[in-house]
Amino acid sequence: MREPIVSQPTPMRTAKNDAAQATPTTGNNQQWIDKAKAHLLQNYKQQPIVLERGLGSRVWDADGREYLDLLGGIATCGLGHCHPEVVAAVRAQLDKLWHTSNVFYSEPQIDLAARLTAASGLQRAFFCNSGAEANEALLKLARKVQKDRGNSERYEVITFDNSFHGRTLATVTATGQTKYQKGFEPLPAGFTHVPYGDLEAVRKAVGPHTAAILVEPIQGEGGVKVAPPGFLKALRSLCDEKGLLLLVDEIQTGMGRTGKVFAYQHEGILPDAISLAKALGNGLPIGAMLCTEEAGKSLAPGTHGSTFGGNLIAAVAANVVIRKVTEPQLLRDVAQKGEYFLTRLRELQSRMPTVIKEARGLGLLIGVELVQDAAPFIAKCRELGMLVNAAGDKTIRFAPAYTVTNDDLDQGVRILERALKS
Ligand SMILES: *Cc1c(COP(=O)(O)O)cnc(C)c1O
Repeated sequence: MREPIVSQPTPMRTAKNDAAQATPTTGNNQQWIDKAKAHLLQNYKQQPIVLERGLGSRVWDADGREYLDLLGGIATCGLGHCHPEVVAAVRAQLDKLWHTSNVFYSEPQIDLAARLTAASGLQRAFFCNSGAEANEALLKLARKVQKDRGNSERYEVITFDNSFHGRTLATVTATGQTKYQKGFEPLPAGFTHVPYGDLEAVRKAVGPHTAAILVEPIQGEGGVKVAPPGFLKALRSLCDEKGLLLLVDEIQTGMGRTGKVFAYQHEGILPDAISLAKALGNGLPIGAMLCTEEAGKSLAPGTHGSTFGGNLIAAVAANVVIRKVTEPQLLRDVAQKGEYFLTRLRELQSRMPTVIKEARGLGLLIGVELVQDAAPFIAKCRELGMLVNAAGDKTIRFAPAYTVTNDDLDQGVRILERALKS
C-alpha cells in the first residue's frame, strides 16, 4: 500500500489544552473578542472564536476547543496547518536570511520561479504579497503589452458578473459585484462586466478599446460557480482572434486545489498570464503573476515592483507547496477526495431537497448552495465543531486541506446535516 501524502497529525496534548478542554468556557475567547472589538478596524464579519493553534485539518481556539477545519484559511493552507515540511523549510530559512529587497537576487525566489514556470507552461514569474497585487500586475501587464504592440487605445478589461478579483481600487473595479464597490467611487476607468459563462456576451463586449479578458476558472467568492465546460477554451480562441490577452485569476483555484496544478489545465489551454496567491505559501503571504515570454517583455526594468515580493521566508514555503502539488499522486488524491466529498454532499442534498439547492465544485473547492441564507447554518456548524464560511449569501464553502481524510470529510457531512436539521 502506498504511503498517505502526509499522515494526519494527532493533536498535541498540553496541560493547558487539557485544562481548557475540562472547562470549555474559560472565557479566553470572549476576553480576546472584547479586545478585538475595541481595537481592530471593524471591516470584517468575524466568527466569534479566537484561533490559536492548528495541525493538519484541525484547529484549536483560545478556550482549547477543537474544530474540524474544512475551510483552510479560505483555500490557503492547502497542505494543512503546520505541515512538517513547510515548518522545517521556514525554520531553516529563519536562521539564514529573511529579506533582501529585489535589488538583489535570492535563491528561494529563483527556484520558485523555475518551478512555477515549469508547472504552468508560462515563462516568466513576478512575485508580490497578495491576490489583489497579483491581479494588479495582470491588469498593468495587459495595458502595457497593448501599448507596446502599438494599440494605445486598448486599455479595457472584460471581466464577469459576480466575479471577485480583490480590494484595491483597480481589482475591486474588475470585481463584478457592486456591493464591494459602493462608496469608493469614482472607480478607475477601463472595466466592463458580462455574464459568466456567456460567450456571446463576451464577444459582443469586445470593442476597439478591449485589451484583455480576466476570468476565474471557478468563481470562488461568487459562490463556487464552475465555468461551463469549454468556456475557457472558447475565451482563448476569442482572445487569439481579436488580439486580446487571456488573463486567468487562479488565486483560489491554483496550486492543486482542483486536482490539477492550475485549473486552466483542465481545458488544455495556455493563458497569456495568470495570478496566484492563497495556497501558494500555505498561509505565508505571497502572490505571483506568471506570464508568457512575449508579454513579460513589456514589464521591463523599472515598470513594476514590490518591496516584499518573493520574500525569502514566503518563497521557501511556496517551494515546498509547488514541489508537493506537482506530485501526480497528490493531484489524484485531491481529485478523488473531492469526488468522494461531492458524492456524499449530493446524497445529503437528495435527503434534504427543500434545504439544499445544489452541491457543486471541482477537486477540493466545493460549495453547498442552500435555499436560505447560509450564515446561521455556518454559525451552527461552528458550534458543532466545524469551520466553513460563506461564498455569496447562500453558499457554504468548503476548501479543505489536500491532506484531509475521507473520515474527516464524512465527519464534515455529519456535522453539516446536524446543522441543517437544527
Ligand atoms: C482571494 C481572492 C483574491 C484576492 O486575494 P487577496 O490576497 O485577498 O488580495 C482575488 N481573486 C480571487 C479569485 C480570490 O479568491
